[in-house]
Formats: sequence, C-alpha cells, structure tokens
Amino acid sequence: MNYAYPRAAEIRAAKGAFINNEWVPVSTGRTVPVVAPAEGVVFAEIAASGPADVDLAVKAARAAYESGPWSQLNPIERGRLLQKLGRLILENIDELAALEARDCGKPMRLARGDVEAIARYFEFYGGAADKVHGEQIPFLNGYYVTGEREPLGVTGHIIPWNYPLQMMGRTLAPALAMGNATVLKPAEDACLAPLRVAELAAQAGFPPGAINVVPGLGHEAGAALSEHPGIDFISFTGSPQVGVMVQTAAAKNHVGCVLELGGKSPQIIFEDADLEAALPVVVAAIVQNSGQTCSAGARVLIQDSIWDKVTAELAKRFNALKTGLPEDNPDLGPVINAKQKRRIESFLERAKADNVPVIGQGSLHEKAPADGFYVLPTIYGPVPRDNPLACEEIFGPILAAMPFKDEADALALANGTEYGLVAGIWTTDTKRAVRLARKVRAGQVYINAYGAGGGIELPFGGVKKSGHGREKGFEALYEFSALKTIVMKHD
Ligand code: NAD
Repeated sequence: MNYAYPRAAEIRAAKGAFINNEWVPVSTGRTVPVVAPAEGVVFAEIAASGPADVDLAVKAARAAYESGPWSQLNPIERGRLLQKLGRLILENIDELAALEARDCGKPMRLARGDVEAIARYFEFYGGAADKVHGEQIPFLNGYYVTGEREPLGVTGHIIPWNYPLQMMGRTLAPALAMGNATVLKPAEDACLAPLRVAELAAQAGFPPGAINVVPGLGHEAGAALSEHPGIDFISFTGSPQVGVMVQTAAAKNHVGCVLELGGKSPQIIFEDADLEAALPVVVAAIVQNSGQTCSAGARVLIQDSIWDKVTAELAKRFNALKTGLPEDNPDLGPVINAKQKRRIESFLERAKADNVPVIGQGSLHEKAPADGFYVLPTIYGPVPRDNPLACEEIFGPILAAMPFKDEADALALANGTEYGLVAGIWTTDTKRAVRLARKVRAGQVYINAYGAGGGIELPFGGVKKSGHGREKGFEALYEFSALKTIVMKHD
C-alpha cells in the first residue's frame, strides 16, 4: 500500500518495552503481530511484555518518583517539558498520523486530528502543571491549616485501541503534570504511535523512568500492571468486563482507580429541534471512528410526530456514506479487528432474525480490500426497546433509532440502559433542555450540540456501568493527586 510509513522497520526491530528511556528486550521473548485493519494483513509486531517486564517498569517509575531526576523537577519545569513534548508531537504529525491511520484503519484526516489532540493534551496539562493551588482552611484559634495537592506516586495506565494517541495524552499528561511517574500498557491491537511518542518524550528531555511503556497482551501485561503492588493508582479505559478486574485488583492493593467503560449514548430529537443543525451531528457522532468511540451517539430518540421526516432524512445521509481505506479519506474506515467485526455482525444477525427494519445503509468504497474488517454504516428503526441493538454497546457504526411520545417518555428511554456516559438534547425549548439535562443520567450532556469525546478542557467520565472518576479538564489533575492537610499550631 502506498502509505507514508517511515518507521515501520525500526518499530518492527525494536521488539521491546520502553523502560527508563530505552528499548529493553522483554523477558517472554515473544511478540504480538500487528494487523492493519484496512487490509487484514500483518505489517508489524510488538513485544509481548510479561510480569517481569512490568515489574521492571514499575521499579523504574518508582525510582524516578522517589529519588530520580523526575522527583527533582518543580511544577514549572514539568509544565515546560510537557509543552515541549506537545510541540515535538506536532513536528512529527505526518509520521504519527500515518502510523495511527495504518494501525487503527482510521481515515487520515481523523488520524491527523488525533495527533493534534494528543499534542493539545500535553499543551493543556503543561500549562496547568503550575496552577493547581492548595487552600488555607479555617480552623481553631492558634492553628494554621493548609490543604495541598501532592502526586500519588507511580500511576498505571491501561488504554484501548480506538484512540491510542488521544488516550495516551488524556491519561498520561495530567498524571505527569502532577508529578507522578507513569507506566502505560497500550492496547495490543494498536500501539505503534504511542510507542513512538514515548521515544519523543525521551527526546524532549523527560528523565528516565517518568514515562514507561509495556506493550503486550491484556491478560498478561495488563493484568500484571493492574495487580502490581508497586502501583499507587490505576486508570483504565476499555470494556466493563476488564474494568471489573482492574477495580478488583486495585481494591486488593488498596489503591484507587478511574474507570471509563463505554456507553450507549442517546441523542434526543424533539419536534421543535433545528433539524438542519441536528442531523449531520447525529450521523457524525456514530460514524466517527466507525462507531468505536465510547461516547458515540449510538441511539437516536425521535419524537413520534417527526419520525417519518427525520428517518427519511437520516436514510439519505446513511445511504451516501462510504467506508474504505484510510488514505482515501472515506467517511469511515474499517473496525479494528476480525473479532470486533464478528461481534458487530452478531448484533446485525439478531436484528435480522427479529425483523428490525433497516432505515438506511452506506456502502463499501470500490478500492476497499476484500480482507479488510469493513462494516457498513447502518441505521435501524424502529428498534424495539428490549432489542440488544437498543441497549448493548455495539462499538460499530450502527445507529438504533427509536420513537418517543413526550418528554417523560424520552427521559425514560434515555435512562433505560445500564450506561451513562454522554447525552445530546436537540430542542429550541431552552427550559425543557435544561430540565432534561439535569435529569439525564450521564457524565456529559450536550444541548443542541454533541461532542463525541471532544473538548480536552471538559471533564469527562461516566455514571452507572460507564464507570467512575473523571478525566480531562482540571478534574483529571485532582484524580491523579491526593489532598494533604497540614495542621500547624502557632500559639
Ligand atoms: P478490553 O477491555 O479487553 O481492552 C482494553 C485494554 O485493557 C487493552 O489495553 C487490553 O490489553 C487491556 N486488558 C485486557 N484484558 C485485561 C486484563 N485482564 N487485565 C488488565 N488489562 C487488560 O477491550 P477489547 O476486548 O479490546 O474490546 C471489547 C469491547 O470493549 C468493545 O467491543 C467495546 O464495547 C469496549 N471498549 C470500550 C472502549 C472505551 O473507550 N470505553 C475502548 C475499547 C473497547
């Protein structure tokens, strides 16, 4: 394929974990093949880190945190380093975007956007590193009391394959800004770009041990990291099933965790909505990254009085969508692997068996290779409320449309899944919008807008099965730090 792919050979040769700013051969001696989703071919391999490698990485982070050069840096210097890394990432945008596009199958423009986003994470948190103020707390006469934020120590970070670069920035940048030393376990399906960013961090001047990356399998490297007694906190983004394991491991070690576990986010369209504004956003929010976005708008709830009009318009928009190769910048690319494709198809088979009507469906770009993991973007409806399409996270470009009667019905439907990550409300009745926004169970609610994961400044996270804790914005700095109360008697 004619991708600009400059460093494939070096990454293939690296075959190691990135510990103390060096490539270290892994103890297992094994590798994991990396498949390009758009073509279905192996094009690289990564090292399979084992428990011994994770242990080495945690010890490197511990040394950097306790006594190494990382512990010597003040917040101003840490902030400058983070910002320098952000600039270096942008200088390497062509290479990083090509890696991310091939590794994930993303359209190039999306991959470039992801590089800009990780750079922005380091810029934002670099700027914030010296702005987390403590507080003076009124107490008894004769006492002087302060509360100040201190790092947690060594933080573990397990990220998924849907946005490898963005997730790396989202979770590492605030932890580093607060002075923690980090160990990252990226997803085995897509981690080449994060590995390259680790090299860039060393080039930017991050001292050895501040950022360590242990590529490998979830049940091996991931489990070893979450269970490691040397970890002071763990951040996990991925499936609810693994989230439970990570939280259990954290509990056994008496440490905290933040979990981001996906969703089934609704977009609610009332009859008074500005449809011209709403519909392109509704389509984009499920098609973006082939629906493999935790905050994808996976359900569209339509007031029954406008059902025919809205579904006819959505059908037109879906029918016009094309999925294909990243380099052709299609509306969407393939899904990540054969397993995910099969999983999505099982939902579609069930929908067919249940006679759920297809409203509209996109098509395959003529250049899309036959072995790629392509799933046609499809909108179904009306989807029965108890059908798996209506309540389970599919993680594909599949939109479930459902009619509702009135505001109470819309709320019941919106809150009727186990998840609670994001919701979108489309109406020109502002009082209704605010009333509903307060009642919808979700970590983020958009009114006449929808940002699937957008906005680094905006605290983000879930309720219910979508997880707990918040990343992004200043909230992430609080997640990755602890408040210490210091009490001094002066009289
Ligand atoms: P996953 O939860 O298995 O993988 C996420 C990360 O956890 C990866 O880095 C993986 O290596 C690691 N991991 C796997 N098993 C582990 C273990 N036992 N201990 C510690 N870490 C472990 O997700 P998946 O299998 O890649 O995808 C399955 C489903 O998860 C998807 O269909 C989707 O519904 C959901 N998902 C959600 C997100 C999200 O952003 N919330 C991202 C990816 C997948």
